Order: sequence, then structure tokens, then C-alpha cells
Amino acid sequence: MKLVFATHNQNKFEEVKKLVPQYVKLVSLDGIGCHKEIPETGKTLEENAQIKADYVALNYGLPCFSDDTGLLVNALNGAPGVYSARYAGEEKNADKNMDKLLLELQPHEDRTARFETVIALNLHSKQYLFKGIVHGTITRQKKGSKGFGYDPIFQPEGLDLTFAELSMDLKNNISHRARAIAHLVEFLTTMARNN
Ligand code: IMP
Repeated sequence: MKLVFATHNQNKFEEVKKLVPQYVKLVSLDGIGCHKEIPETGKTLEENAQIKADYVALNYGLPCFSDDTGLLVNALNGAPGVYSARYAGEEKNADKNMDKLLLELQPHEDRTARFETVIALNLHSKQYLFKGIVHGTITRQKKGSKGFGYDPIFQPEGLDLTFAELSMDLKNNISHRARAIAHLVEFLTTMARNN
């Protein structure tokens, strides 16, 4: 089956492609000729994922899924959350986002946080939501150079390393996105088996 993954991010696309079974022919937004930056105007991760999946379903009539991710810090009442990409401004600069978070968190003892990914799948005129979560803590300094976003300051539960110190394969085994994709794949596989 042909399935659109509503992203322009080639790295993310390749990462997710490795996680879906071969019978799913995954195509990106650019792969269907959609070069538009779909505005993420939702107030929750769910809304943003739904907006992107609906845009593709409406304008291209193709089965599609999209994802939206946020880092939720407990001592900051879930911030930066849905605003993770733009926490320190519209330029979406990862270093500035991390600096702001480290500063905001300085007075707090509790450094627990979690990454959440929500996936919205539009298939046969219905919408399905899937979620993946990874718990961890925010370190006091940036460590490691791999990955992207908040990876250098996020230490997943049970490990002494940040996401930015893990190989891509290891991160992809335990990440929020991989967990959400696993739920999606389970769903697609069950559907395929029953048809
Ligand atoms: P998106 O919804 O995947 O575009 O993610 C929104 C923002 O969350 C990104 O711009 C990053 O700042 C952050 N983010 C998402 N996934 C990750 C991750 O795997 N590691 C670190 N930061 C991430």
C-alpha cells in the first residue's frame, strides 16, 4: 500500500522508513509534489498531527499519516510541549531552545521530563491516533553531538547517556517516535491481515 508520511524532513523520513514493513510504500510530502509548509496552528500535539494529515487527505486524497512531537518538562507544567520547536523564537534554533530550557529549569530540583509523539493516520475516511512516550530527565549541561533538537540535554530513563550520545539505531529502539510508529505498524498489520 502507498502511504504518505506528511513530512519534509528527509532525516525523519529515512528514520521512519526503516521502521515500517516492506508492504508499506512510504512517500514523503515532496514525493507527492507537495512543497507547502503546512502551518502547525494547533494548541496540542494531537491537533497539529491532525491538521497535517487532514491537509493531505483533503488536497491529495491519499492515505496519510503525520506526527507531532513535544518535550514536556514536569517542573515547567509541561512546557515547552507543543511549542518545543519554537521555544526560544520563530527561528527554531535548537541551541537557543536548549539554553532557554536549562535557564528556566535552573531553580528547580525536579528535572523529570518526557518526549511525546502523536501520530494521526487518515485511512479509508477515518482518523486514528497513536502515541509514543519516553520518560527521562533534563541534564544540567549539553552532552553529545548526535541527533537533533533537545537530544543533548535529554537522558532517557535507565541510561547514563543523553540521546545525543546514543547511536541512531539505539535511539531509534527506544525513542518516542519509534514507539508511536510501532503502534501504527501494529494497527496497519492487523488491518492487512483482516482484509
Ligand atoms: P516535530 O513535531 O517532530 O517537528 O518536533 C518538534 C520539535 O520537538 C523539534 O523541533 C525538536 O525541537 C523537538 N524534537 C522532536 N523530536 C525530537 C527528538 O527525537 N529529539 C530531540 N528533540 C526532538
